[in-house]
Amino acid sequence: MKILLVEDSATLRHAMSQYVLDAGHSPLLAESGEQALQLLEDTPVDMIIMDVEMPGLNGFETTALIREWLGSHWIPIIFVTGMSEDDDYRQGIEAGGDDYLIKPVSKMIITAKIRAMERIADMRDQLNRLNNELEALSQLDSLTQVLNRRTFNEQAEQQWLLAGRKQTHTCALMIDVDHFKLYNDHYGHPAGDACLKEVTAAIKGCLNRPYDLLGRYGGEEFVVLLPETDAAGAERVCSSIKQAVADLALPHKVSPVEPIVTVSIGAACCLQPRSCNLEEVIKAADRALYRAKHTGRNQYALEEMTAHRTVIIAHSDEDVLQEASACLRPIYNLITAESAEETLELAVNIRPDLIILCPTLVTQDGAYLADTLAELERTAPIAQLYLGHVAEPPPAARPSVDLPLNCEDLQKMAGQLLGH
Ligand code: GH3
Ligand code: MG
Ligand code: MG
Ligand code: MG
Repeated sequence: MKILLVEDSATLRHAMSQYVLDAGHSPLLAESGEQALQLLEDTPVDMIIMDVEMPGLNGFETTALIREWLGSHWIPIIFVTGMSEDDDYRQGIEAGGDDYLIKPVSKMIITAKIRAMERIADMRDQLNRLNNELEALSQLDSLTQVLNRRTFNEQAEQQWLLAGRKQTHTCALMIDVDHFKLYNDHYGHPAGDACLKEVTAAIKGCLNRPYDLLGRYGGEEFVVLLPETDAAGAERVCSSIKQAVADLALPHKVSPVEPIVTVSIGAACCLQPRSCNLEEVIKAADRALYRAKHTGRNQYALEEMTAHRTVIIAHSDEDVLQEASACLRPIYNLITAESAEETLELAVNIRPDLIILCPTLVTQDGAYLADTLAELERTAPIAQLYLGHVAEPPPAARPSVDLPLNCEDLQKMAGQLLGH
């Protein structure tokens, strides 16, 4: 440890520095309180041993200044003094000292005290480390006590999967405080923090369903996931959040929008959570927020998600065709075809996002329809998927889903190929 010795007597300074060296630590010497403060400015130390009676700043005054300067960073400070009254002791501890030794102090006592303080300092380091780990593990944002961004994403992903299974509408909101930089500049950062807490509480009060999720996405930006909610529902929530924040009536004198704190909100809804992913919806909500900001703030905007993708199913087995259509129709804009020629014509004209093919469906010249589609410039970028057993010899490797049809598998594979 680096130990700062503050002592005006040269003899004592020398003796104590020898004790510190003998105990295996390195001493840093100051002959006055002023010099100690100066040294501390560029040299961090692990402990301070401080005389009390010194010309200029005394040990108590110096300690109080050091504590103020170090703030929440604690280092042990031990007084070594000839002042032995009870009141001196009290004053020393109040000034920020951790221990109080009466001169003359033997080498043994000093060594033992250094060891004891060293143990406490180690415990402090361990506590700091644990606190940092805890903060990383924590699911809540420390200022607002709502989900932090990482946990929001994790829990929203879970909700999304559930919504996909149940095929329920899901919406996301992005909420951003208007002209918050101006607020901080005018009222100060601590007031800004208090404002964010109040805004959080107002938003929370508008989310009534147990599965609604609220997270702090960034500084003054919040994100909300509303499962089982359609666009009309999302608009209602937006409107009530806007009102709840206005009702707080937090003064914002320098805001060009209103003399109170206001928010802008962007909303986006996905009607079939299997046909879009969470990230897309949050991005869409962010685009809507941008619009709300740029058309005057203190309002909400809704982004329509054109999520419906077009899928062609071409199959020679009518039962399979029907089953597959029923499975995918709720998610995609679906077109069925029964022959290779029909599929090709549709593919060229419509250019769907995905073509699901029966492996035995061949074009007239005997080549696989799949290969023809892959060769044509207009149809080459379209994803392909085989539905059914791929006969020998296998055509160019393409993903396939086996028969009998499992709807979940088909939806999952189609979703993967379409990138959601
Ligand atoms: P806009 O209406 O376009 O959103 O303007 P803005 O000033 O709110 O947006 P900008 O992104 O420029 O500034 C956001 C400010 O939010 C920057 C920072 O001062 C403040 N901020 C971010 N996080 C915190 C926080 O935790 N506490 C406080 N007090 N302020 C924060
Ligand atoms: Mg002295
Ligand atoms: Mg803002
Ligand atoms: Mg912002």
